[in-house]
Amino acid sequence: MMEENLILIVEDEPEIAELVQDYLEADGYRSILASDGLEGLDRFFQHQPMVAVLDVMLPKMDGIELCRRIRAESNIPIIIMSAKKSETDKIIGLGIGADDYVTKPFSPGELVARIKAQLRRFKHLSGQIENENTLKYTGLEINLKEYTVHAEGRQVELSAKEFQLLAYMAANKGQVFSKEQLLEKVWGYQHIGDTNTITVYVRKLREKIELNPSEPKFIKTVWGVGYKFDGGNL
Ligand code: CA
Repeated sequence: MMEENLILIVEDEPEIAELVQDYLEADGYRSILASDGLEGLDRFFQHQPMVAVLDVMLPKMDGIELCRRIRAESNIPIIIMSAKKSETDKIIGLGIGADDYVTKPFSPGELVARIKAQLRRFKHLSGQIENENTLKYTGLEINLKEYTVHAEGRQVELSAKEFQLLAYMAANKGQVFSKEQLLEKVWGYQHIGDTNTITVYVRKLREKIELNPSEPKFIKTVWGVGYKFDGGNL
């Protein structure tokens, strides 16, 4: 059972870990610390936190591998802390499934704000999952509880973010979203906000769910604005 508002911090520099923990505590959030990657993975399984904050350079297993391992098990928000801007950019390029990034040195207050933003977004998505289990359209079925998608009768494999983007748009059928809005709603951040991310994800989604990706039936381009989800209800 996932523990409400519990935050896992994996950081081998105790001063940073404790500072972040103090800030979280002052805001009423509980957190657990781990000082290397393996311990972080252990704590993740043991405590089932709702958010994970991972340093990149860690003893025993680095934050990138740890992020991949956690992502393979769970859709909880993951925030990566890295030492340099160039390192951050490189990690974003790897597509390891993290939800947000901070570059050191950061202010603990800023990190806490990011953590809270991720928690809100995650709970909002989870809330949708509780209210509605399946979104059904002609030729497309999205199961929000099992995180599965069937398109034109076959099950398609989506990454967590592809799924979240599709589910978000489908839950708001007909509504036109700009790329910036989708970044903010699904990724939950604006600062690194590269709207090319959305272009790339929409292309991948179309390749997976559309019979003819160049004439999409579900994710329509609204020229000059962005995208909208379309699909005849069953
Ligand atoms: Ca470190």
